[in-house]
Amino acid sequence: MVKPRAHAESEFLWIESGELKTGTVVTVAPIAPVDRLYSYVLPPALAGRIEPGQRIRVPIGKRGRLADGFCVSVDQRSWDATLKPVHSLIDDRSFLTADLLELGSWLARYYCCPLGRTLAALVPETVRRQAGFRRVTLVRRTDQPNDPTHKLGAKQRAILDRLQSGDTPADTVALLRECDASTTTLRSLVRRGLLATETHRLPADAPSIDVPPVEPTFALNDAQRAAVEQVHGMIDARGFRVAYLFGVSGSGKTEVYIHAIRRVLAAGKQAVFLVPEIALTTQLVSRLAARFPDVAVIHSGLTGVQRSLTWSAIHDQRRRVVIGTRSAVFAPCPALGLIVVDEEQEPSYKNLRAPRYHVRDVAIKRAQQLGIPVLLGSATPSLESWHNCIRHSHFVRIDLPRRVRDLPMPELHIVDMNGEYKETTGVPDLSHQLVRALHRTFDRREQAILLINRRGYATWIGCPRCRHRIRCTHCDVNVVYHSARRELLCHYCGRRAPAPTQCPNPSCGGKLVHVGVGSQRIEELLRKLFPNARLARADSDTMRHPDAYRQLIADVESRAIDCVVGTQMIAKGLDFPFVSLVGVIGADTTLAGADFRSSERLFQLVTQVAGRAGRADAPGHVIIQTLAPDHPALSAAAHGDFAKFADDELELRQRTALPPFTRLTRFVVADPIAPRAQAAARELTANIQSVIPTASPPTADTLGPMPCSLTRLRGQYRFETILRTASAATMSAFLDELRGRRLLRVKAKSIVVDVDPVSMT
Ligand code: ADP
Ligand code: ZN
Repeated sequence: MVKPRAHAESEFLWIESGELKTGTVVTVAPIAPVDRLYSYVLPPALAGRIEPGQRIRVPIGKRGRLADGFCVSVDQRSWDATLKPVHSLIDDRSFLTADLLELGSWLARYYCCPLGRTLAALVPETVRRQAGFRRVTLVRRTDQPNDPTHKLGAKQRAILDRLQSGDTPADTVALLRECDASTTTLRSLVRRGLLATETHRLPADAPSIDVPPVEPTFALNDAQRAAVEQVHGMIDARGFRVAYLFGVSGSGKTEVYIHAIRRVLAAGKQAVFLVPEIALTTQLVSRLAARFPDVAVIHSGLTGVQRSLTWSAIHDQRRRVVIGTRSAVFAPCPALGLIVVDEEQEPSYKNLRAPRYHVRDVAIKRAQQLGIPVLLGSATPSLESWHNCIRHSHFVRIDLPRRVRDLPMPELHIVDMNGEYKETTGVPDLSHQLVRALHRTFDRREQAILLINRRGYATWIGCPRCRHRIRCTHCDVNVVYHSARRELLCHYCGRRAPAPTQCPNPSCGGKLVHVGVGSQRIEELLRKLFPNARLARADSDTMRHPDAYRQLIADVESRAIDCVVGTQMIAKGLDFPFVSLVGVIGADTTLAGADFRSSERLFQLVTQVAGRAGRADAPGHVIIQTLAPDHPALSAAAHGDFAKFADDELELRQRTALPPFTRLTRFVVADPIAPRAQAAARELTANIQSVIPTASPPTADTLGPMPCSLTRLRGQYRFETILRTASAATMSAFLDELRGRRLLRVKAKSIVVDVDPVSMT
């Protein structure tokens, strides 16, 4: 069957050559991987029904294939080329407020992502479908007086008495129940024109958090009070400012955030509180819900209905405090007064799909556009933010140098594992010092946290006879053995396979060994060493669902668990009063790989996990096992001296022209055929170089093309090129030019443009 063409399109080919027309022109950003805007004429039938931010359907290309896109502007203007008409509407209104639309345009430009795709990322699909909305029929009294010749029944009277004209419409079901009347009675009134009904889709109430309100018994200490005063001053001044709360772990930063949010709510506004990981929302949500009656939570674990209802509750200001991970930075608050970004240095704030935005930077941009303050906080600032506090007057640093209640900082001990290296297994695992400390901790009925950077059982599996290592068939990495299901898992592509016991090399057939420790192996070792201790493991294998994490936190709080073994997810933000020992196993694994931020990450990780210890009366004790005991980041972390670490590291970054002294954009070209990937990467590099003007000193330079440190991923060969500029503005200008001249299109399966990359693998 031949499909009928979209409605009478030919009627609208209204341009005779040389003619000039005037009318309403709609600019559209398609939600497709095309990086350009298109113009359309608004057909009279749709006049007045389109606004920027709304999704509409338009014909694209010579054949007029219908595609979805966002209306980005509606103007009266003249045109002299053939413009096709808009085909139809998808949404009956815009789900993007003017400020989000403006933020979206900035994102699309800054992060080099097609506008349509960027805007699509700002509003979840379930919100547009109005998931969880119910259809309700409302009824209202019309202006028409009752014709006295008609006698009204008692029930009819009751209904009319209940409704006055000009009142807001009432819910039909409730009204009928109240007046004990039937639908027939109601319908007779509608027929006579005395009542009118209208059908709406209304949201059910958003999920709420059941926590009894509790105010703390302590008063703020002097440092907190000074910080709160300063932040209140910024909020009252009603302008854009970045406040940086630099406070050691346990210094009471959350209390300062809470007081800041109070001030904003008192002024009738809303606040967004961003946390880097879903795991961290759990404890924080209970803490904030005890202080604020109307908290909303946004994270990736919500169901579609929960997400949609939460979104509309925020939009209608039924919820004024929004806590959430990445996408919460786009919370549709009509009256946003403050954005808090806790643990602003966290890499998980970077979105790993286009648009590849960094939440902290988007938060700052949104605050700037709205003219409101933003509050960043951490014990281990990113060097970008630290440097901004030094060089920009609108960044204000506020210090909380000591723990609350004058609790001491935990004591750090570095254990050199080179001496403990075990010949038999080749596994540096638990040092004697750590084992002794665990004994002491359990004897005193205190709790311990052990951090191991790798999940799984063994980090690789290989043959001691022929030195063959089992690698992923699709990625250039070792596979990881997971003992629970006796299988091999690639942590990059997720491919699984049953674990062999014999070397697959037919001429060898040796017995395979498991090398390198993962969280499962440590758990197993501890169960042998401490059969009476109650252990829990927290990694992405055991914590698939947010409920599992909630349960773990409850168990640690109620002391049903003595020791948690886990990956990075247990390092951050949690506040447990009875944890007195923290152990870090294999602290140097972050140093492997060529990432220029590896020292910074090591400092952050060690400081953060150490901060979990000694947060109440039991003094904290931290043991760090490492093969690189002399690493400057470790000794700085052991002394709790962030400023010294930052000074040294910034000096190095300046010498090597790396961020925060420069800006980087990373281009990754991938293709299943290696030479094709390489050729495309060469072409791309030449294209990039062609837009850099020759000047001395040069305004930009390129590094590469070179194979990525993860050379093959999911069957694709990967090459990278890095563009480096002195400033963000220069970077945006180059990217504009590359996009405008279509120089980013090369012959490879995929190309990824990552502005301000945080991962270099
Ligand atoms: P941070 O976020 O800086 O690590 P938190 O805000 O989590 O610190 O505070 C650590 C603990 O100290 C929390 O249990 C908190 O309730 C408590 N606390 C905060 N401020 C004070 C204070 N002024 N006096 C006593 N305890 C406090
Ligand atoms: Zn793989």
